[in-house]
Amino acid sequence: PEKTLSDYVRGYASQFPDREALVFLGQAITYKQLDELADRMAALFAAQGAGEGDVLGMQLPNTPQYVIGFIAAARLGMVTTSISPLMTPPEITHQANDAKVKILMTLVPFWQTSVQPVLGKVPTLSTVIVSGPMDIMTGQGEAINATVEGVQGISLHDHLPATAEPVDTRVDMDKVLYLQYTGGTTGLPKGAKLTSRNLFMNNLQANEFYGYRTGEETVASAFPLFHIGGAAVVFNALRTAATFLLIPDPRDIDHFVSEMKARTPTVLAAVPALYQMLCANETFKSLDFSGLRMAISGAAPFAKEEVQKLESVVGAGKFCEVYGMTETSPVITLNPASHFKEAHVGIPLPGTDVRIVDAEDGTTLMPLGEAGEIIASGPQVMQGYLEMPEATKKSLREMDGKLWMHTGDVGVMDEDGFVRVCDRSKDMLIVGGYKVFSVEVEGKVQSLPWVAMCAVVGRADTKRPGNDVVQLYVERTPDCQQSEEALKVELEGFCRENMSPYKVPKEVFFIDAIPLTSVGKIDKKSLRQPA
Ligand code: ATP
Ligand code: MG
Repeated sequence: PEKTLSDYVRGYASQFPDREALVFLGQAITYKQLDELADRMAALFAAQGAGEGDVLGMQLPNTPQYVIGFIAAARLGMVTTSISPLMTPPEITHQANDAKVKILMTLVPFWQTSVQPVLGKVPTLSTVIVSGPMDIMTGQGEAINATVEGVQGISLHDHLPATAEPVDTRVDMDKVLYLQYTGGTTGLPKGAKLTSRNLFMNNLQANEFYGYRTGEETVASAFPLFHIGGAAVVFNALRTAATFLLIPDPRDIDHFVSEMKARTPTVLAAVPALYQMLCANETFKSLDFSGLRMAISGAAPFAKEEVQKLESVVGAGKFCEVYGMTETSPVITLNPASHFKEAHVGIPLPGTDVRIVDAEDGTTLMPLGEAGEIIASGPQVMQGYLEMPEATKKSLREMDGKLWMHTGDVGVMDEDGFVRVCDRSKDMLIVGGYKVFSVEVEGKVQSLPWVAMCAVVGRADTKRPGNDVVQLYVERTPDCQQSEEALKVELEGFCRENMSPYKVPKEVFFIDAIPLTSVGKIDKKSLRQPA
């Protein structure tokens, strides 16, 4: 039977009442407590006049109230939208208006800095619920009771009722549950409309490979919850009565590692850049990973040398990679640990069709082994972008009686049905009329021992219109002692030996740190801007 996340949590409250559902800064919330907290939070939302179809905005880092708020909103038939805690007031104003947020949850520091300037600019907004990260655990917190520009600001701890009746939930599986904004890697984030069915089905599809054992997993995820990757991991964990380690700031590697030391995870999930940072951490390398079943990566390309580094730490046969996007709830393909194919993102999930088509016409099937645009169809494909009919029409197209998501990614399928992602079409460069995949050049350069992280972008070649000049940005490892000149010579020799001449970067820049987006993807947009 179809069940929602909220149904699962309610069931586990009686099946595994004392099992730890969430662990946050060393303190735990059991399944019974989580279920009760969700009802109490729902009562708070209802008391603020929110109900079916109203939108809850969550501008929170990874905290218990995030997960509780999500379940509570689902119980009331509300729609949730995640707002990155790093957003500035104009960005919040834009998203809150786009999504028509009625209730906003935020943290004390954001209330002062980024939320108050927004008030009065979002007509649908009526209440802001403010809390400190630990307020749910301590039952205490800063008292806030203010009305600013007609919007009520209240603190969570003194408005969350001490008890509440269980909400009688009737979720319509085909209604939008989540307005999830895309990563914003290539432009302004777009709101993808995801239904309960989209998210639930994708959990089931992916779990055919993950095989979470109900009531037995401990999941450590370094994804922010405001990203679809983080949301999907926590949904799957709670759906299987796992213990979920909430990491407030995944980039605080020392803290992340200490949490993993305290409660040995059976499942680890992160973006490639974070795995790279973890693998450079001595304590992480010394952890006991004998209980770890699976290390999942996704959201960005992961060079094979870096995968090998990770496997040398966590053990062989555990690494699996997923490929997907916000618009597909998010997983499309999965490269299973048991049948792992290097440098690929795997095979389509059950119930998912993937085709590689001519990028120009969007329909002609490419022969196996030839690059084209990846398109995908299945129960996880979104209902469209919010308020963007043109972008929706471009991305969601019908063919052979199905709706296909046009990913904007260039890929290849081999004779076993394994997909390889070559590049985003927006990141692909043209040199002398040839295609250069930035990811391929990065993967090669990444294998140099003194390269901590690198990124390839292009600038328009003024001498040859329609062509690009390949630029390479390099972040060196902290122990690298050689001069830039010597490194450039070595790099050029290495590139000439390992790639066709047109792919060799013409301009090389050494920078302190490769810029990352809030999700931890390489931010090529900012590298392309003139220095
Ligand atoms: P925006 O669409 O706003 O520019 P974004 O595309 O980064 O941002 P997401 O939905 O988070 O937003 O990311 C999906 C994209 O991430 C995919 O289209 C693909 O380019 C990339 N991606 C995801 N998983 C992988 C993977 N395993 N390997 C390579 N690239 C991946
Ligand atoms: Mg995208």
